[in-house]
Amino acid sequence: MIKPGQTIGILGGGQLGRMLALAAARLGLKCHIYAPEAGSPAFDVAACHTIAAYDDEAALAIFARSVAVITYEFENVPAATAAFLTRLCPVFPDARALQTAQDRLTEKDFLRGLGIATAPYAPVDDAATLARAVATIGFPAILKTRRMGYDGKGQALLRKAADLDAAYASLGGQPAVLEGFVQFEREVSVIAARGRGGEFRAYDICENIHENHILAQTLVPAHLDAATQHEAEELARRICAALDYAGVIGVEMFAAANGALTVNEIAPRVHNSGHWTLDGAVTSQFEQHIRAICGWPLGSTRRHGRIEMRNLVGQQADRWAELAGQEGTTLHLYGKGDARPGRKMGHVTKVLPEV
Ligand code: AMP
Repeated sequence: MIKPGQTIGILGGGQLGRMLALAAARLGLKCHIYAPEAGSPAFDVAACHTIAAYDDEAALAIFARSVAVITYEFENVPAATAAFLTRLCPVFPDARALQTAQDRLTEKDFLRGLGIATAPYAPVDDAATLARAVATIGFPAILKTRRMGYDGKGQALLRKAADLDAAYASLGGQPAVLEGFVQFEREVSVIAARGRGGEFRAYDICENIHENHILAQTLVPAHLDAATQHEAEELARRICAALDYAGVIGVEMFAAANGALTVNEIAPRVHNSGHWTLDGAVTSQFEQHIRAICGWPLGSTRRHGRIEMRNLVGQQADRWAELAGQEGTTLHLYGKGDARPGRKMGHVTKVLPEV
């Protein structure tokens, strides 16, 4: 068990690392952030930081020796970096969770192996495999890079045979998967945690609304019947158990009108759709993650009310002064300088009476 006063290492210095470090500080733990970019938002709130590349083994070794446990705020940590660090210090979630979640094909094969529904999919490595994949999956379909895609990046929608060449070219010839288009009614996510000893707790299911492929709003409770909510939680529990997972996980799903659930993606980390827990739950997802990786008991996931969380993307954050004065709204800003279009700058949460 990691004790108050000890230091947690976090790979990645964005807003998720920042909110993890703030939660750790509240529990008397310190954080050391490792990130390649100078001026990373998490540096402002952590005891110390290292600016170095993820393949700088000398810097990684010094970092690993300065901390009691290592975690990360994004799933694209290179596998070699995770393997190198694991030899020096415990890393949670572990290398298997990382490998499974950072490659869309491995992730889908893993889910299929558990008997969990995914969109129909097929690997695509060149024009010929794309043509074969389309012949089985049909239109519409979405071509996604296996690695490094997020917020709709590295994706192309295919509606007809004439779209194939341009779509494949737009992905730069990277290994990809073709996915059948799921006719869903809602997008939902399960934010859950599994402790190092196997204890599992989930928050109430989140309903997510995207604008321009970026999460815009999360509503809790989701508009799902009780049986579907239970099923969603059970899927997350099974995924965590199969990975012998430790930490917070975000499992993104599509819910059809008849309640059928399809798992879209697993995030082996704290997740944007769980930001509401900072203001709307007894234990935030950030604190929960720190508890889980430190071997502490997990905290209560009880919700304080009906939740509306809205992201402040790009210039939406320019309204910060007005939002700061709005009764019943809690404002979070990530300390990022440049409000580029599509950049997540902050979020606001409203905790409302249950209806
Ligand atoms: P992803 O990067 O996989 O999270 O996809 C980004 C968004 O694209 C999702 O939140 C959905 O709105 C949409 N999307 C992705 N995959 C599918 C699919 N197979 N069927 C329908 N919509 C999808």
